[in-house]
Amino acid sequence: MSRQTLLRKIPQLDALLHEDEFQALVNDYGLAPTRTATRVILENLRQEILSAADSQLASIEISLDGLVTATKTYLRSERKNDLRPVLNATGIILHTNLGRAPLSDSAITAIIDNCRGYSNLEYDLENGCRGNRYDNINAIINKLMGSESSLVVNNNAGALLLLLDSIARGREVIVSRGELVEIGGSFRIPEIMTLSGVFLREVGTTNRTRLADYEAAIGDNTAALLKVHSSNFRIEGFTEETSLRELKELADKYDLSLIYDLGSGLIHSDIPAVLSNEPGLSPELLQLVDAVCFSGDKLLGGPQAGIILGNSTLISRLRSNPLLRALRVDKLVLSALTATLRSYQNPDLLAAEIPFYRFLTANEGEIKDRANKLLEILSQQMTDFQLVSCRGEIGAGSAPGIELASWGVGLHANDAPLPLHEIEMRLRLGEPAVVAYISNDILTFDLRCIADDNLYELAQAIANAIREG
Ligand SMILES: *Cc1c(COP(=O)(O)O)cnc(C)c1O
Repeated sequence: MSRQTLLRKIPQLDALLHEDEFQALVNDYGLAPTRTATRVILENLRQEILSAADSQLASIEISLDGLVTATKTYLRSERKNDLRPVLNATGIILHTNLGRAPLSDSAITAIIDNCRGYSNLEYDLENGCRGNRYDNINAIINKLMGSESSLVVNNNAGALLLLLDSIARGREVIVSRGELVEIGGSFRIPEIMTLSGVFLREVGTTNRTRLADYEAAIGDNTAALLKVHSSNFRIEGFTEETSLRELKELADKYDLSLIYDLGSGLIHSDIPAVLSNEPGLSPELLQLVDAVCFSGDKLLGGPQAGIILGNSTLISRLRSNPLLRALRVDKLVLSALTATLRSYQNPDLLAAEIPFYRFLTANEGEIKDRANKLLEILSQQMTDFQLVSCRGEIGAGSAPGIELASWGVGLHANDAPLPLHEIEMRLRLGEPAVVAYISNDILTFDLRCIADDNLYELAQAIANAIREG
């Protein structure tokens, strides 16, 4: 075929967009992006024809299928870094890199219902005047957690920043050297303190801090004592930690505030055994501290948020701090958090409603059944998958060192049609994306955090990834 004939065979943009195959792309990606992508693909084709050597012309094919595929690939690659769903086959429930806690159905529904249109975010419907975004969630939290007052902000780092800024700006706060933690990413307690204009006064040693160490550090400029849950690490052996009760006595003696960064937000009264070493919120704890703060998306199983509980005077101070404006939660988070906390009003349903608790309390037999079901679906593949026992974790820095015995499906390197790292990569890049892991030459899919509803999708993603070529 001559160069001219080939050029004349390139379809017109608008005619092409009317083809069913392109209409399907318009449905998925919208008209403007599809039009732009198609134009790029047609232009690339034109350039290819113009620049091809005479001998190469014969190999250039123009087909509807080819153009659809090229356009679709282009549209997809444009969006490849957008936030999108991932099937978590790591067995780590609160995987920080995968968005920590998945939301409950009721939280999702609340977001959709309240955010599709308008809402009473800051409007008092009873009195027809301006309302306050924090009042309703405050009432729910106080009732559920027994606090006198509360405030919700963007995340727990923000909660601590607001607390320190409001209580101790320009003054000193005393912390044990055993609690100067880094939570991951860039959250380091000393840095947050600097940011809030507070002078950090470290006391004790990494493994032992006594009450006397705190007391010796107290001076005219001391504003508060800060206790931080060590979250993601454990110090074992020759250790000593000053109890909250002792710190409370000290704080009272010197008229200081006592702040507790609890980190994980365990508020469940009927705590599953694996969490027995995690500090939970209790009436006694609330009696001892001026304020306690924790995350919404760790053991609470809700959206990203920082929840602060404290006495009314303190919370009023936080509410009037201009910094709050920069840390405030939006209607999506308030919707999801309200719904999540409503689930806690009925503890019996917690495991059924909150995905974190469902995954955490799933028993081994149940997960094993799921693994067997996946094996059955995968048995149509010409590849030998096997049932494997695996070990997951809670994640998000909670309950470090605790392993969750689990079951999954594995693919041994000797049985795999491709190198395991290649399959693992294809899974990550697929749709839906799947994050699995390789351990001892076995590509492992831990099924603790995969819902039954997602098994077929997972099987399909695996089938796509192992297909050769
Ligand atoms: C996780 C954690 C934080 C940070 O909470 P975010 O909600 O991620 O901002 C702060 N302090 C402690 C002790 C934590 O465990």
